Amino acid sequence: MEERPRDVRLLPKAHLHLHFTGSMRPATLLELADRYGVHLPDALGSGEPPKLRATDERGWFRFQRLYDIARSVLRTPDDIRRLVSEAAQEEAADGSGWLEIQVDPTSYAPRLGGLIPALEVILDAVRSASRDTGVGMAVVVAANRTRHPLDARTLARLAVRYRDQGVIGFGLSNDERRGLARDFDRAFSIARRGGLLAAPHGGELSGPGSVRDCLDDLHATRIGHGVRAAEDPRLLRRLAEREVTCEVCPSSNVALGVYDKPELVPLRALYDAGVPIALGADDPLLFGSRLAAQYELARVSHGFTDAELAELARQSVRASTAPPQVRDTLLAGIDDWLAGGAAAVRDPRRP
Ligand SMILES: [Zn+2]
Repeated sequence: MEERPRDVRLLPKAHLHLHFTGSMRPATLLELADRYGVHLPDALGSGEPPKLRATDERGWFRFQRLYDIARSVLRTPDDIRRLVSEAAQEEAADGSGWLEIQVDPTSYAPRLGGLIPALEVILDAVRSASRDTGVGMAVVVAANRTRHPLDARTLARLAVRYRDQGVIGFGLSNDERRGLARDFDRAFSIARRGGLLAAPHGGELSGPGSVRDCLDDLHATRIGHGVRAAEDPRLLRRLAEREVTCEVCPSSNVALGVYDKPELVPLRALYDAGVPIALGADDPLLFGSRLAAQYELARVSHGFTDAELAELARQSVRASTAPPQVRDTLLAGIDDWLAGGAAAVRDPRRP
């Protein structure tokens, strides 16, 4: 009998790169837009992922505009709770046992009564969703690098204040071609001194220099994307030696035109150099695929064997901030998946 491949949705893993609005189900976007009378452009309303190309400023602006429109349908605490609950359900279906969701609460503050209430609503939603689904969850508060560095410092202080209530990291997102990483060094130093993990975006739209800036100026312990480090072998060695994990999001890279096709995402180059990788979906709402699909892509487009997929999953868990018990359970589950053969293959009669 021919052996069927193991189901990547059953492979336990951690998800370390998922943005808040970007995690929304397309059907939820349509429903909420309808409820609030938000006109969705065709690119968002068709049910198909939009065609994007963000390698020039105009393309990135268009991506941000679509993201802003999608975010504008999240208006009440109930909307926030629904989004987080559905994201957690999707994670569970994809075999994720630990999710670190990234959010800039500034964007939700005006509708939710300010920065603090917005973050509290989000953290409360995360606790409920985690309880209901069994998926462990935590929050990375991310500053926006197109805003003033003082705003980032305010967010870093806020993030530290909520460290014991579900915030585990501090990030920096948006167009890395704008501004300098070092403008945000004070914010990251507040976050690090407060015990938070530093996980800025770098090495996506800009080259290896932006990854070096994240290491040198922000003392990053993880890099959002980081794929462009593949252009510099010395930098790859440095990431490997320091065990700085790159949160690689292959579908996002292809959707935004960072690479023309999945085969060109330098997943192999990073993996073979010993750089720890945590595969991520980034913004499934806009890129059309979730976490398990990234593992499937590694298998189909890069020839990762099941043993290598298991190793990718282990790397995602090790780079996470999951508590020891969650970590041990996930790592044991990964070994079981690999050892399990038929048990790791989903029954085709079940959804
Ligand atoms: Zn991202």
